[in-house]
Amino acid sequence: MDCLFCKIVEGKIPAKKIYEDDQVIAFEDINPQAPVHFLVIPKRHIASLIDLTEDDRELVGHMVFAAQKVAREQGCEKGFRTVFNCNEDGGQTVYHIHLHVLGKRQMTWPPG
Ligand code: 5GP
Ligand code: ZN
Repeated sequence: MDCLFCKIVEGKIPAKKIYEDDQVIAFEDINPQAPVHFLVIPKRHIASLIDLTEDDRELVGHMVFAAQKVAREQGCEKGFRTVFNCNEDGGQTVYHIHLHVLGKRQMTWPPG
């Protein structure tokens, strides 16, 4: 399988990693859309949010708590935006599930 984010997990492609534990890593987005923009991904390959199963409940909660911890560390106490883009209409471009965390600027709604 040729997956960009699996290669980042394996260290085969460099990334600015800012958090790692047994289940997830977080790293800075290569094309940041805010002063803080990082991605939280599971180490295990899951293509998209729509592919999650009941067995992944704990893992998804783990991703959210990792996002919270790193957002705090990055100084996003005033707030931040979390996004899962899912499949084509959701604007997903990398098919390894990832939680975007964007902060340190005022977000707007609706998103593009
Ligand atoms: P998506 O559009 O799938 O929700 O988000 C994919 C994100 O991955 C984009 O924000 C994009 O900038 C980021 N990205 C794509 N390739 C790389 C890469 O090689 N390294 C890093 N750090 N981020 C990447
Ligand atoms: Zn993958």
